[in-house]
Amino acid sequence: MTPYRPLTIINHPHYLAHDTGGGDHPECPERLRLIDRQLKASPLFPYITEKIARKALREDILVYHAEPYLFRLEETALKGQTYIDHHDNQICFESYEAILLAVGGCLTGIDWLEEQGSDLVFSCIRPPGHHAERAMALGFCFVNNAVVAARYWQRRYGRRKIAVIDWDAHHGNGIQDAFEEDPDVFYISIHEHPTFSFPGTGYAEEKGLGPGVGTTLNIPLPPGADDSMFLRALSKFVEPALELFQPERIIVSAGFDGHVLDDMSGLSYSTELYGVIGERMAALADRYCQGKLLSILEGGYHLEALAASVERYLLGLAKCK
Ligand SMILES: [Zn+2]
Repeated sequence: MTPYRPLTIINHPHYLAHDTGGGDHPECPERLRLIDRQLKASPLFPYITEKIARKALREDILVYHAEPYLFRLEETALKGQTYIDHHDNQICFESYEAILLAVGGCLTGIDWLEEQGSDLVFSCIRPPGHHAERAMALGFCFVNNAVVAARYWQRRYGRRKIAVIDWDAHHGNGIQDAFEEDPDVFYISIHEHPTFSFPGTGYAEEKGLGPGVGTTLNIPLPPGADDSMFLRALSKFVEPALELFQPERIIVSAGFDGHVLDDMSGLSYSTELYGVIGERMAALADRYCQGKLLSILEGGYHLEALAASVERYLLGLAKCK
């Protein structure tokens, strides 16, 4: 018996061309280079199939984002401006293409899950997406990859009830904004408390709006929160809520900046925690989605901790029970 299940990783060389200013910016191409190097040396490597991302179409992205914003984003990059909306959101001439390929990497992943018999897909993309709002770039994010992916899953494959589980250290304000009135998409986020952390949203009281009340779940953790606090939140709140919701498909917004070495948050997760999270996410996929799970890379900025945590997450995910 093989110790690991097969895993599909979606990638594209152009992700490295999204230049955020030459080295000082935390969201740098080196992130993906180190993940790649780590996985090549991993016992998981023989079980990994790499697939190249396709470009998302404008119409895919317009299910959430405003068309004038997309034009502005494209024009800003092609004109050679170095940022959009805030100095945090550094871009270059190649960035628009990389953004289309990042969101396309999630759609390619869904196609593999639905049509090619893959069960576990990790879209190893950049730039990340969960802070991007309808008409605004924010927190290194330009187009909301998870939002476009959820809508694509619904429209292209008729999977109505989608859960997005986001355990990046920061609240995914853009995902919440997209789905807070929608009872068919359940956004769940475990993050550092908004009083202490960017972007300042994601209080426990934010539970959805109108027909979407009850399908937003925010679990803020205090600074310093460790593995046991994370796992308690997962058992006590996330798993029971999913049992009530009964998702047809699950998207994981996988951010690794809650690691104790990552100074983008005050959280204190260990590398080992990500292995346990991988096992728990795979168990949820087995329970509700015939084992199928799309994980999308979000944050994670301490390069060595990021690479080790991604490997550990994927090892947990692919571990045979
Ligand atoms: Zn983050």
